[in-house]
Amino acid sequence: MPELPEVESVRRGLARARLKTPVVKLWRSSFNLRTGKNWLRKHEGLEQLRGATPGPVRRRGKYILWHMQGADEGELVLLIHLGMSGRCGVARADQPIVDHTHFIATFADDRQLRFVDPRRFGGLKVGTRETIYEREPVAALGPEPLSEDFDGAVLEAALGKSKRALRDALLDQRAVAGIGNIYAVEACFEARLNPLRPAASLSRRSWSKLADALVLVLERGVRNGGTTLKDFRNVVGEVGRNQDDLRVYGRGGEPCPRCGRRLADFVSQNRSGVMCTRCQPKFRAR
Ligand SMILES: [Zn+2]
Repeated sequence: MPELPEVESVRRGLARARLKTPVVKLWRSSFNLRTGKNWLRKHEGLEQLRGATPGPVRRRGKYILWHMQGADEGELVLLIHLGMSGRCGVARADQPIVDHTHFIATFADDRQLRFVDPRRFGGLKVGTRETIYEREPVAALGPEPLSEDFDGAVLEAALGKSKRALRDALLDQRAVAGIGNIYAVEACFEARLNPLRPAASLSRRSWSKLADALVLVLERGVRNGGTTLKDFRNVVGEVGRNQDDLRVYGRGGEPCPRCGRRLADFVSQNRSGVMCTRCQPKFRAR
């Protein structure tokens, strides 16, 4: 699933296209996308984009927020969630349309925003700035880990009372936005914290180390254009390079890059992960 660095790569790709001309045509496949009360097809509102002029492309957690000026001058926001396998990017209208394309907005300069999603866990939604930012899912998101004021205290305030395993707690988008399994596992390793210890057991110093580790792995991911595992491709099918820089994720059984002990796979809440049992020792309550 695309996490913060992958979504940020897509956002940058969309911004780089510098679209400035209004939407003249819209097409939506007959398939439903993301399910859940915030994403019902009848509430997608994509028709509102007709005549809209694209503005800044922002990101919050794993969501892309594309600001547009509506035909009636009001500010609109196109909310995009890539789900498990969503891709979106800008193409010329004469470029072939790939399988699993579910949405196309054509602009007056003959370029198109295309949304492709084989597994259809992604979602699209248009609303006013208020309806998008002040309602779920965006309103419910926790702090942004790459923002200036993110640090150990922010993380501790969000998760310091959680009895859940640390890795699992980090996946809660209400606690910290944009983290998924890959970057949670990597950050626990970088901070030398056992991913299975209860979040509430961390000291102030450990929260601070963990916050630094999260920023480190996320920034590395962004610099590398995201991690390309099975499903993620950015805008024009470019492939991120971060998988080569993952230190433990997907490397169970290989030697720990720090101490050489064989890395151990684990499963918690039905999700796998990898850790070094020497560098990330078990927590023992005193
Ligand atoms: Zn180790």
